[in-house]
Amino acid sequence: MILNVFTCLSARLRQIGPGRRPGDIWRSLRAFPFIFFSLHSMAEIDASAQGQVVRVGLYENEPKVFTNTAGVPAGIFIDLLNEIAVTQNWTLDYRPCDWSQCLNWLETGQLDLMPDVALTDDRQRRFDFHQQPALNSWSQLYSRPDQPIVSIFQLNDARVALLQDSVQLPYFQSMLINFGLQTELIEAPDYPEAFRRVRDGEADAAVSNYLYGALHASQYNLVATPIAFQPSQLYFATGKGQKSDLLAAIDQQLTNWRANSDSVYFDILNEWQNLPPKPLIPRWLILSLTTALALLAITVLLITWLRHLVAARTRALSDSERKLTTILDSVGAFIYIKNRDFKYQYANQQLLDFLGKRKEEILDRTDSDLFGETVATPYLSNDRQVFAQGHPVRAEETLKGNDEERTFLSIKIPLHDHLGSIYALCGISTDITEEKDREARIQYLAYYEPLTGLPNRAYLFDYLAPAILNRPPHQGLALMVLDLDDFKDINDTHGHDYGDQLLIEVVRRLTNALPDKGHLIHLGADEFVIVMFTEGTPNDPASAFCEQVTQYMRNGYEWRDFSNHCTASIGLALLEPAEAGDLGQTLKHAEVAMHQAKLNGRDGWCLFTEQMHIALQTRLALDADMRNSLADQDFFLVYQLQFDDRQQAIGAEALLRWRHPQRGLVSPMEFIPLAERNGLILPLGRWVLLTACQQLVHWAGQTETSGLSMSVNVSAVQFRSADFTAIVAEVLAQTGARAERLKLELTETMLIDDLDDAIRNISELKAMGVDVALDDFGTGYSSLAYLKRLPLSQLKIDQTFVADVLIDPVAAAIARTIIGLGHSLDLNVIAEGVETEEQREWLKQEGCLAYQGYLFGRPETAEQLRHRWAQPAN
Ligand code: C2E
Ligand code: CA
Ligand code: CA
Repeated sequence: MILNVFTCLSARLRQIGPGRRPGDIWRSLRAFPFIFFSLHSMAEIDASAQGQVVRVGLYENEPKVFTNTAGVPAGIFIDLLNEIAVTQNWTLDYRPCDWSQCLNWLETGQLDLMPDVALTDDRQRRFDFHQQPALNSWSQLYSRPDQPIVSIFQLNDARVALLQDSVQLPYFQSMLINFGLQTELIEAPDYPEAFRRVRDGEADAAVSNYLYGALHASQYNLVATPIAFQPSQLYFATGKGQKSDLLAAIDQQLTNWRANSDSVYFDILNEWQNLPPKPLIPRWLILSLTTALALLAITVLLITWLRHLVAARTRALSDSERKLTTILDSVGAFIYIKNRDFKYQYANQQLLDFLGKRKEEILDRTDSDLFGETVATPYLSNDRQVFAQGHPVRAEETLKGNDEERTFLSIKIPLHDHLGSIYALCGISTDITEEKDREARIQYLAYYEPLTGLPNRAYLFDYLAPAILNRPPHQGLALMVLDLDDFKDINDTHGHDYGDQLLIEVVRRLTNALPDKGHLIHLGADEFVIVMFTEGTPNDPASAFCEQVTQYMRNGYEWRDFSNHCTASIGLALLEPAEAGDLGQTLKHAEVAMHQAKLNGRDGWCLFTEQMHIALQTRLALDADMRNSLADQDFFLVYQLQFDDRQQAIGAEALLRWRHPQRGLVSPMEFIPLAERNGLILPLGRWVLLTACQQLVHWAGQTETSGLSMSVNVSAVQFRSADFTAIVAEVLAQTGARAERLKLELTETMLIDDLDDAIRNISELKAMGVDVALDDFGTGYSSLAYLKRLPLSQLKIDQTFVADVLIDPVAAAIARTIIGLGHSLDLNVIAEGVETEEQREWLKQEGCLAYQGYLFGRPETAEQLRHRWAQPAN
């Protein structure tokens, strides 16, 4: 007995086994005196000695029925049965079998009792059951967490593992049929196998009773789905018609226990259902809670992270705000923000500095608050435009800062909120005062003469031309070109400073004389334009003005010990009221008139006339024709012979002729001045020299003409050209003419303009052997002083004196003086324009022994002269 007790105790203790709570020990001890436990053979030996032996089917369905890790039967049903066995003095003989086998053995009488059998119709036919259910249970579906099943409909086309011959199988099958689901059912011999299949992917879900699932699902990495079904009542069963005493005893015991909440029944239930922790809360709820907790944790983490992020962002923002402020404050422009009430919301340091105000004095104030109504009005108008148009507005604005007024280019940009409406404007104002000044200076220089500060030619054309064109129809216009007569000489003589001073004084005089509607323009150098708008015809007021100005200009100038006179020549052109007129043309007309005034002897004014215009046109046409004629060889030379007192031809003067293709012969008096003006005189003069020298060479080869010299007229333009003497030398060399036979005729005026130059030129010519004669002598400034310095060889008494020697004592006196001058300076003297025998006689009496004139012959071509010499002398 002692042995038995110890065996039982040791068995109970072993049953507790690993993983069992210490509370089990107490229950085990409570039951130990009557429990006999052994393996199959041991039980048989003891059963006969101790009363009824009950053969109990033992299959694996933890925690209800199973063999624990110590190899001892365990579970809710086993504990209950053990307790009952104690009261009934039963010896329990556990026979391991699998579920179907157990049921078969029970049917065939190899087992007396089977625990954990759900009641079904079929089983009711096969077995007997007691009345009071031993345990309530239900079935639950389990799946892998990576393929969670939350709805029964997910079972369509899925594979579900179930315990074969279990009550769940037909129930589940009919449930699937009722839901119309196609699900493959895989039968497993026990729950571990069913769970293993799901774990290994051979099935998608498994069905087990919730007690088993709650205990073991996690070992297979499975989770409970929310699909629970078939609540069932579990019983002990016996074979049909056998062992009803067992069932009755069980019923009685269960009824007693259930009536008392402190009974061992509830202890056992509590303990087993709490081990492992009783899934009071459904698995999915735990999962949801876990998920919720996880989400909470994540949320907390997220919030922490966001806080960190916000802190970092805030730091970054304040960093970048600081940076931005530094940048905005150091930008060389005013930057500001105004709200829709035109009140400043921001102003950068530059603006504050400029205004000499603190931020607080600016913010929330309008421009009118800060600068007053008048100053603020243009800003307000620009700001309004930004809000009204919704586009950036560019405008020039001026603002007086601490000291001076500055000009700004302001760009004002609308600022939009996230809804797209404009809530403010941002202004950027750049100081452009310097640029404006520079622009103004450039503008000034483009339109004004720096010396006199008067508007210039560009101003005349850009500003006055439109005013002239668009003047009221009753207004007339007078345009005057004024040119100082001796300005160049004064400038050359006294220097540019003096000249500038004189110009300023001229401007002062002109400004004084200028009428109200007059404009004074400085064209450059010593040339001015006066534009005068007149009510009605401009003739009278303009003439009066010209008269007044010419007189005004006659007054002398006295500075720096110099007293000077500088008269002016004025050309006047008029536009009648309603006469459109073109400024360019009118100006040209006035210039023509001015030149005419110069031709008229300067120091006066001249009104432009149509004749002048025609003359101008003619001159321009002649200019063009002359160029063509030079190329077409329409020029030719005639020669007028010169004789001595014995009627002997001693030389000839070459005179140029132009046979104009339309006009016939044109007088050199007309075309030489033209050629001098347009520059053609240089190639033309060279041609004359060359042709005359060729003729000279030709004559040198003929007996009758071998002794003739050739006089060639030289124009002032030619004589002053730098290469004149070189050209003469070149022509002599080119033609082979003898220099001693060449005589160049110059006039006095071309010599005195630059006497030193003239002396040098004439000396060079003299050195080459070329003679120089002074033409038209007596008409110019003839003065002994310069005559003595010039290495001349001949004086030519002008024909006007010759014509009058017999009738005009003054002319006779001049002619006599010239002859005397010639003798005293050892120059030979020739008289030109000798037309009568009387004149020749008078000249001869006075000592002039050389003559040229119609009395001896008209200028003739070389051909005509050849004929003359071919005829026998009479
Ligand atoms: P000039 O040098 O005083 O030439 C003399 C002018 O008097 C010539 O006029 C000639 O035909 C004219 N003449 C000669 N004898 C008499 C006379 O008895 N009575 C009158 N009434 N006139 C007489 P022309 O040929 O018409 O030349 C006019 C001027 O043209 C010249 O005056 C000269 O200054 C200029 N000229 C002519 N040919 C040339 C030339 O090749 N070169 C330059 N630079 N000027 C020239
Ligand atoms: Ca001459
Ligand atoms: Ca002459």
